[in-house]
Amino acid sequence: MAGLTHDMLPHVRRKTSLPNPKRDSIEQFRDYFRKEPKVLEMLLNKVKVCADCKKPCAYHQERCNSCGSSLSQVSISHTDNILLSFVLGIGKGKFPFKISVRFQDENCLCFDDPLSVSAVHLCCVPAQEYVPDLRYLFGRPRRGRRMLELLYNSAAKACLENYWGDESFQEFYLGGKVKWKKLLTESELFVLTAAGMNYPPSQYQLHVQFIHGPLLPFHYALFLEGGHFHYKRFFPYSFLLASLNALEDDNRDFRNSHPDYDMDLIIDEMEKFYGISYDKHWHAMISQIKQMQETHAPWAEKDFEYRVVGNQVFDAQAGFHHPGITVKSLQTSDVKRIQSYGRPYDTDEKPSGGSYNFPAENPKELQDWTE
Ligand SMILES: [Zn+2]
Repeated sequence: MAGLTHDMLPHVRRKTSLPNPKRDSIEQFRDYFRKEPKVLEMLLNKVKVCADCKKPCAYHQERCNSCGSSLSQVSISHTDNILLSFVLGIGKGKFPFKISVRFQDENCLCFDDPLSVSAVHLCCVPAQEYVPDLRYLFGRPRRGRRMLELLYNSAAKACLENYWGDESFQEFYLGGKVKWKKLLTESELFVLTAAGMNYPPSQYQLHVQFIHGPLLPFHYALFLEGGHFHYKRFFPYSFLLASLNALEDDNRDFRNSHPDYDMDLIIDEMEKFYGISYDKHWHAMISQIKQMQETHAPWAEKDFEYRVVGNQVFDAQAGFHHPGITVKSLQTSDVKRIQSYGRPYDTDEKPSGGSYNFPAENPKELQDWTE
């Protein structure tokens, strides 16, 4: 279904204004640090872009983890590390870095993800540490567990304060079948949320994805086809936390396995030595998302003007074909109508945002987990 006709969709606006960026463009930044190879390297995502499906994959992978094509003939390419640019206070790259900030302090930055998979889709990154991907958490399990909890708890706090604190949001998304009398605690929030991290990532700065239900109609359909939370690419928060706790208790780490191991190694070892099953955690998350959608999705069939079958658009009531309307245009407009990303909009009705308040003075001051 597509083409939402609801006219009472709640949008949660940011309450605080955001500062202008402390630094100008990523090009100027690179020029300033041109004699610092480490800094220049940090600002790039090193990827192999699959020739068949165009997915950016980790550079050491032999096969694309999306379509399975061989990557052996694909050369390594680079994209701007946008998440690291955010926490360094850089103002723009190929486009302006406007962040829809929902929570920030000296340690982390939490913002609305523009992808807006769900009604509340937050992303949280460390701000004073350079952690390229989640494998580095397994290099230092104790510190890794603390970092994981910091990012998750900050996102949960941002969700509770911004979204749960908003009356119209509560009423619309949670007021139907389930009545909540008061703000949830962070652990109660857990059952309404799919959180975790991707490996390999497309941005090489650690980030927790915090996806609070319900999923947007289009993304839920994509999810049912296996298009989100990919098996063995998405690592549920519960799996990461259990694994890091077990390693911490056992005084064991994966530090010497760097840099060229894949998460398959971790998945196997966790099962073998600690009985922690990736499959169980992943399947539990998948059923939880379905459950969450059934309980909390506020829209019914009657709220949609169109029915989508493959690439074709049909009138939901009368059933006739609309050859002039594309599926993509309907999805884009539905996402825009529902998302709180970038609210309040600016005078041109475009998403607004700002910059991170506490960027490190010098990128070399970031604690580097790769050392
Ligand atoms: Zn591919």
